[in-house]
Amino acid sequence: MCVLSIIVPCYNEEESVADFYEELMKNELFFKEKGLEIEILYVDDGSRDNTAAEVKKLRERDERVRLISFSRNFGKEAGMYAGLEKSRGDYVVLMDVDLQDPPSLLPEMYSYVEQGYDSVATRRVSRKGEPPIRSFFARMFYRLMKHISRTEIMDGARDYRLMTRQMVNAILEMREYNRFTKGIYGWVGFKTKWLEYENVERAKGETKWNFWKLLIYSLEGITAFSTVPLSMASVLGVLFCMLAFILIIFIIVRTSIFGDPVSGWPSLVCIISLISGVQLFCMGIIGQYLAKTYLEVKRRPIYIVKEEL
Ligand code: UDP
Ligand code: MG
Repeated sequence: MCVLSIIVPCYNEEESVADFYEELMKNELFFKEKGLEIEILYVDDGSRDNTAAEVKKLRERDERVRLISFSRNFGKEAGMYAGLEKSRGDYVVLMDVDLQDPPSLLPEMYSYVEQGYDSVATRRVSRKGEPPIRSFFARMFYRLMKHISRTEIMDGARDYRLMTRQMVNAILEMREYNRFTKGIYGWVGFKTKWLEYENVERAKGETKWNFWKLLIYSLEGITAFSTVPLSMASVLGVLFCMLAFILIIFIIVRTSIFGDPVSGWPSLVCIISLISGVQLFCMGIIGQYLAKTYLEVKRRPIYIVKEEL
């Protein structure tokens, strides 16, 4: 008998936990037909509401429900990692609890792994119901990543994904602390089938992301999967050296023809401030990578479990 693990990271989602279960169970017949035994792993990411209690209520009714509670909020990335690590399934699927990842898609996804795909991923083709400015920056991010990273990162990709045990194990090998799963999937490779669907709006509760969190998360993605910004510093350095060289020749020629009256203070100030600006910017980039390296070498755990059922 095959086991399918369903991993659901939750952060302050007391309203959605039961609804998700109901919706998922509409697939009960499909699970039976395919001889799939399921386990539903709710990862309570340090919620401050009654999420854990709601999960325990479900567990009293259904033994297949499991709970992992973190000691504090570690972020969705940590939640997904913990879920993958604790899952026992031959197949594993990651889903949001807010029903933005429709459980009704499961049979179709499963049909593709039966056909021999290692993973079935989903992407949304529209961003309906999202603030336009957020969509704009998201697009920019994916376009930029396409140019500066060799790892494939799909625009509009969701975390909703069905994987084989083999791929899960490959992902678990990547024990990095600064996690950007969308890049990790691309990095480990394997044969992936992409399914597309229209964006579904959150059923209950509210999104845990705001503009700043997303911006920081995108920087995470860039530093984790590209070193182009680092080499940008050297390119800028070479450009400025060339510029300086031309200027030196220009000044030597001008001085030998017209002499050297003391002038040009404003332009000097402009040049100095421009170049020191560029220098600080490049140091900032190096600092970003150094900071990430610093966090990695500490080898802190990705999450801490408080309770496990
Ligand atoms: N989530 C989590 N930890 C966090 C933030 C979010 O486990 O720190 C979970 C959340 O409960 C939900 C999923 O990640 O199941 C996606 O979050 P959300 O719906 O807020 O993101 P969006 O769909 O707006 O991108
Ligand atoms: Mg959501």
